[in-house]
Amino acid sequence: MSAQGTGKLWIVATPIGNLADLSPRAQQVLRGADLIAAEDTRHSAALLAQFGIATRAVALHEHNEREKSDELVQRMRDGAQIALVSDAGTPLVSDPGFRLVRAARAAGIAVSPVPGACAAIAALSVAGLPSDRFVFEGFLPAKSAARRAHLQALVAETRTLIFYESSHRIEESLGDCAKVFGGDRHAVLARELTKIYETVLDGTLAQLSARVASDADQRRGEFVLLVAGADADADAARLAEGHRVFELLRAELAPSRAAKLAAEITGASRKALYDTVES
Ligand code: SAM
Repeated sequence: MSAQGTGKLWIVATPIGNLADLSPRAQQVLRGADLIAAEDTRHSAALLAQFGIATRAVALHEHNEREKSDELVQRMRDGAQIALVSDAGTPLVSDPGFRLVRAARAAGIAVSPVPGACAAIAALSVAGLPSDRFVFEGFLPAKSAARRAHLQALVAETRTLIFYESSHRIEESLGDCAKVFGGDRHAVLARELTKIYETVLDGTLAQLSARVASDADQRRGEFVLLVAGADADADAARLAEGHRVFELLRAELAPSRAAKLAAEITGASRKALYDTVES
């Protein structure tokens, strides 16, 4: 499929706090667009006014994205240049836009990024945690049972984990991370990045949990929580020791009993030990 006019969709990143992070190219694209599709037009109006950008804005948010996308795609088919922005950072990253981008691409309209701030990447860049591979998990479920189940499925993940969190839930989420991943797991809490009260706390999950619980200031603002991946080397060493003990015990005990005791003694997974008997 090919586009009829020369319409185009620009995906424009905006600042996550510090207005000086709106790039000159982002300003140029926003100024030159026929229309700005904004997550919240009132919120974006303040940013646009700051830079003297008078381009008309329409709302595109999670509740109207489906219907609005068709209308915007039609306008781009007719030749309009549209810039998509969200309230902060990079659109589509825990923000609306995915449906619009998909619809535009399906219609053969060019979609071009104007990269800039993204809280997850900004936090990763200062955390000092392994950054060669990482997993962006976005927001955790709001309810504790669902949140713990979600975290449980990530226990063995060896890549650095990145979560977004709000001030209402940061204390509970940190507590759940400590319970599920263990209080000793290394983590970094990046708060209010690029803003006046920017704070990057570094420690174990137990330490961060205690700090946030005891200091109300550390519960204010916006957060990125980064959790170190499961230590693959430590897990492998535990399993090797588990096998050694398991083999010794197996000479005297039934395999299931030997696996249970070896797991208790070494911390290796009982199932992983027992599975070696069956394989
Ligand atoms: N699209 C945005 C991006 O590129 O980062 C994220 C939008 S998401 C709705 C908002 C969440 O991003 C906040 O709840 C917080 O977890 C994180 N966030 C945004 N700005 C931040 C900042 N200045 N410092 C720390 N976290 C921030």
